[in-house]
Amino acid sequence: MSRRGVAILGSTGSVGTTALRVLARQQERFAVRALTAFSNATLLREQVAVHAPTFVGMVQPCESADASWSTGAECLIDAAVRDDVHTVINAVVGAAGMRATIAALEAGKRVALANKETLVMAGGLVTAAAIRGGGELVPVDSEHSAILQCIAGRPMSEVRRLIITASGGPFRTWDSERVRNATVADALNHPTWSMGRKITIDSATLANKALEVIEAHHLFGIPYERIEVVVHPQSVVHSFVEFVDGSVLAQLGVPSMELPVLYALTHPDRIADTGVPAFDPVALSPLTYEPVRHDVFPALGLGIAAGRRGGAAPAVFNAANELAVARFLDGELSFPDIARAIASALSVCGDADGDTLEALVAADAVARAHVREF
Ligand code: NAD
Ligand code: MG
Repeated sequence: MSRRGVAILGSTGSVGTTALRVLARQQERFAVRALTAFSNATLLREQVAVHAPTFVGMVQPCESADASWSTGAECLIDAAVRDDVHTVINAVVGAAGMRATIAALEAGKRVALANKETLVMAGGLVTAAAIRGGGELVPVDSEHSAILQCIAGRPMSEVRRLIITASGGPFRTWDSERVRNATVADALNHPTWSMGRKITIDSATLANKALEVIEAHHLFGIPYERIEVVVHPQSVVHSFVEFVDGSVLAQLGVPSMELPVLYALTHPDRIADTGVPAFDPVALSPLTYEPVRHDVFPALGLGIAAGRRGGAAPAVFNAANELAVARFLDGELSFPDIARAIASALSVCGDADGDTLEALVAADAVARAHVREF
């Protein structure tokens, strides 16, 4: 059997290193052909020594990089469209991953997408690129992987509702006064998942769930009024799908990204894997659910409203959030300022044109400039 070539964009991050762990156990089926990272040359060099890819890209040129490595933002696209690559795992954080996703889909690749910001910013253009090029978009996000597994090829006319679970983040039980004074360290202390810094802050504001609602809308072609969010602190039920006859299916597992990454590689097939943690219902009980506290976490409602508004509004939401999170991590904004900055950007530039990639990139830049001054 010939092995499928895999490119990992963002191989040094949380999802990227998880993907390499999964691939190391599946060397009979998959071969790592391309790796890219933003700046961590030391870790990238170690990964290259173990996996021997045919292409290595480093976005930010730096002294410790190998002279044979490609450099610059274009290396993401170069890695994604290579002939020896069948599947592109896009594990880059933020809007920087968008062009590579589109290029890979246009080149007919399977894109295992962790980089949800891509779909939020340009969902319509991304799905059009897949149709044009024959590429296939498969989610890595655990909630969307769960939904894909529950739908299991049934037509969307049989699906009544998607119910996306949210851990609730570190401030799930905090009152609004305490949340107002939350520090960066508080916000980085996620109760159930260990992830990169940006998505960890998004989980604390619930902006991550807004990104995921928009992501689900585009991945499954389902209107916003049929997507709901419920808080589930244990992160064991990864999401629910309710069908038109009232039956509800869920996919469960311990909070680990290994299974969603593996499934994105093998979908619709399943293969044996010894690394995915075993399931023990007694140890994982009880499983509980709560409504979202929208008054304490306004970013969720802002994002869903931006999704419904369409045009460039989701791109503005995403860009404003990315910059506000960066400024919060730098100590320049308070925790509640993140949602305030997003709201401000949406009210000023949310109606921008979003018909073309150029228009969306322009709206993204305007939103970032707005939040830089906020
Ligand atoms: P991370 O910060 O740990 O890793 C990001 C990776 O992207 C790194 O390899 C970094 O070098 C690279 N990168 C950063 N900026 C870049 C740029 N401008 N251009 C090119 N490469 C760049 O992030 P993560 O937690 O692995 O998340 C990656 C993506 O996956 C995000 O979109 C996140 O929302 C999504 N996601 C993550 C998890 C998780 O468990 N970590 C779960 C679901 C979805
Ligand atoms: Mg998720």
